[in-house]
Amino acid sequence: MDILHDFPYLTLQDIKGLHYDGFIELKGALYRLEVKVPASGSLSEATVKCDANFTRILNPFSDIIKQRLSQCDSLHGFLKEIQSIAENQLDRNAVAATDSTMFCRQLLDHIELLGWDKLEYVSDDFREVHMVFTDVARRKHVMKLYTGKQYPRDCPKCSVQLPVKFDLHWSAHATLTDAYGQFEVSVDTFQDFWNKMAEIDAKTWVLEPEKPTHAAKHRRIAINPSVSVQITVDPNNPRVLPDCMFLGSDQAIKPLRQSMNANISAWNEESGILDNLGRLLNVTFPSPATSTKEEFRLECGICYSYRLEEEIPSEVCNESRCQQVFHQTCLVDWLRALSSSRQSFNTIFGNCPYCEKAMTVKLMAR
Ligand SMILES: [Zn+2]
Ligand SMILES: [Zn+2]
Repeated sequence: MDILHDFPYLTLQDIKGLHYDGFIELKGALYRLEVKVPASGSLSEATVKCDANFTRILNPFSDIIKQRLSQCDSLHGFLKEIQSIAENQLDRNAVAATDSTMFCRQLLDHIELLGWDKLEYVSDDFREVHMVFTDVARRKHVMKLYTGKQYPRDCPKCSVQLPVKFDLHWSAHATLTDAYGQFEVSVDTFQDFWNKMAEIDAKTWVLEPEKPTHAAKHRRIAINPSVSVQITVDPNNPRVLPDCMFLGSDQAIKPLRQSMNANISAWNEESGILDNLGRLLNVTFPSPATSTKEEFRLECGICYSYRLEEEIPSEVCNESRCQQVFHQTCLVDWLRALSSSRQSFNTIFGNCPYCEKAMTVKLMAR
């Protein structure tokens, strides 16, 4: 009768002592349990039935329990073992639940400290936090933090839109306010850069990127329907001459290059990028005030679209009466399909699909 002494909520269902049904007490709560040993008395063939909650507690140990069933020398010993396994697991669960409550409380304290007005979003499990900062020019900047299990001990992962790499400095005692402060300082250092980029976005036709983010350092600006210039601005030094790459037919971009080289010393760090470029290149950039974007969004002569996934037309026929533009991908596919074309190393030699004039296209690694 040892079993009924240690497990008072079980009742014996047969006279041989092989079938028990009722409840088992774990940490003060009762869980449904039924154990049936076959007439042979072999424990390894016993069936154990538990309620859903008890099953959930024992689930990670199902292999161990099976093994113990075959090794225990008595049903009593076996019941004592599963009781001990389940109670240990309940203790572990309780610690995990406390950890999770502690984490939420800590994060809420940190949000309180930061101010709810600076918070744009927080996920239900508090693992993802978006903080928002509006700069002096009323541009909105968002810092996304992803907190790990060991927050605040471990540095959260962080995602921001800045033109340079941002490293979050973190210590075990850091809070959201520290992260926000670092972001604020970083955003402030790029005001001059963003002002310059904003002027370009407002006063020219930017062909690329389609929707520039705060991190984008380059702009492809239309000069005329068949020529554009891609500039890359140094965010730490936005007043110096940006890196310039012209796109268009050889004869169209040659005078621009020459003009730039001849006037390069005239770059004035006190005036804007557009003023400077206009003077160096001797061009007036077409602007939304004087033209429509469609005039500069020339479609590819092969697929008749402007944007092909991320690509925009970058190959131009050099014949002055043609100047048709093509996507690099489209032109490569077209020329490769023709027996009249030939390839040497990474260059394909063929003819313009429009005017038949000889054309070459370089294969770029993608
Ligand atoms: Zn195309
Ligand atoms: Zn052509």
